[in-house]
Amino acid sequence: MSTEGTCIFCRILRGEIPAQILERTEHAVAFADVNPQAPDHALVVPVRHVENLGAFVDAASAAEVHDLFALAAKIGARSPQGYRVVTNTGPHATQSVFHLHLHVLGGRQMTWPPG
Ligand code: 5GP
Ligand code: ZN
Repeated sequence: MSTEGTCIFCRILRGEIPAQILERTEHAVAFADVNPQAPDHALVVPVRHVENLGAFVDAASAAEVHDLFALAAKIGARSPQGYRVVTNTGPHATQSVFHLHLHVLGGRQMTWPPG
């Protein structure tokens, strides 16, 4: 879909669009979701532009996979009573930004199944 030039998350990573950056590693960045669905709602993204989880695992190095999941776990640990990690892929899952992102949600009681 979008390329690195126009991708909103690439623009955030380049500092072209403001965001509340929570933490950075070599291969991953966490920032606050602009429209939070829980008291704690971060997005954890790979630095490299890639559309979704499938495309990521097709080409990711071990270090990239580690950074993405380790950062999600570290951000999740800020919600001591628990957290949820979600990644939406494709129209049935309502993906709206085509740069892989893990939603890390916490700070309230969740329900299951998700909507
Ligand atoms: P998706 O629907 O693709 O799973 O999630 C996209 C997420 O990106 C949404 O939760 C939305 O609120 C968030 N988002 C969209 N645009 C921006 C933005 O410009 N800044 C930030 N911080 N989050 C955004
Ligand atoms: Zn991107």
